[in-house]
Amino acid sequence: MAEAEQAARRCGFAALIGAPNVGKSTLINALVGSKVSIVTPKVQTTRNLIRGIAIEAESQVILVDTPGIFSPRRRLDRAMIDSAWGSAQEADIVAALLDSRRGFATDDEKVIDGLADLRAPKVLVLNKIDLVDKPALLALTRAANQRANFAATFMISALSGDGVPDLKTWFAAHMPEGPWLYPDDQISDAPLHQLAAEITREKLYLRLHQELPYQSTVETEVWKELRDGSVRIVQSLYVERESQRKIVLGKGGQTLKAIGAAARGEIAAAIEQPVHLFLHVKVREGWAEDPERYRAMDLEFPKE
Ligand code: GDP
Ligand code: MG
Repeated sequence: MAEAEQAARRCGFAALIGAPNVGKSTLINALVGSKVSIVTPKVQTTRNLIRGIAIEAESQVILVDTPGIFSPRRRLDRAMIDSAWGSAQEADIVAALLDSRRGFATDDEKVIDGLADLRAPKVLVLNKIDLVDKPALLALTRAANQRANFAATFMISALSGDGVPDLKTWFAAHMPEGPWLYPDDQISDAPLHQLAAEITREKLYLRLHQELPYQSTVETEVWKELRDGSVRIVQSLYVERESQRKIVLGKGGQTLKAIGAAARGEIAAAIEQPVHLFLHVKVREGWAEDPERYRAMDLEFPKE
């Protein structure tokens, strides 16, 4: 009996690909049912391929959230694009997302045209349908299907959850047969210290998105379980210039304090343990050109 059940199981990878801001991270959270991937109103915040794990009937669907595909300007941009296509190449299915309200922009065209090189079945996902009416959706469906060969089209709102169950069912049905790769209570394989860094980075962006350029990053340096069941976490916030360090600190350290308070609350909720969070702001000049930092973020360092 147990063996028969095992044999029917399916497991595989679904890559979400699309321009920045189309709603990839929001969709992963909706599919998994828990906050695993950083979601912000700013573009280009997903640097790591954070995986969410969705379970539907006998299938385990491992979701890969890719950095948005966009026009490369800097070395970091190119590394993110290579990493996104790399994960799409290894996936069992690829879902290409479009923002229904925005329609086709240059970045979306690059995404759709790049799909031709992928062997896995592709689906078109029109997201944010809560923001548009039906005729616009049909026109966009037609235009996208003329450019690429999609096995199916889904119209969803990742934010409200509308249409998400159908997509999840399709993902589940198209996973290859095989044993599950993760225990059934796991929602992400990103290590906790990485999730904690993502949360702090999100708070940093939410607080300072006007003033801070993208070239800032957060690393968890100490993660110590204390005897009373709490965790002591020390993180470094890296910026490129002294002037940026002052912005992050704020007057009398108030800005950093607010970022820390918001991050601490959310990390504690995520790991269900009390947290003591210590943040340090450090200047690391030219880190965006340093191969070592790319390795730390699990990215390849592009040659030029
Ligand atoms: P990503 O860059 O593709 O990962 O996009 P995010 O998931 O971070 O979403 C970008 C923005 O779009 C966020 O402000 C989301 O709240 C918003 N968003 C995502 N899905 C929907 C949706 O279905 N409807 C609406 N109205 N907003 C959405
Ligand atoms: Mg994202």
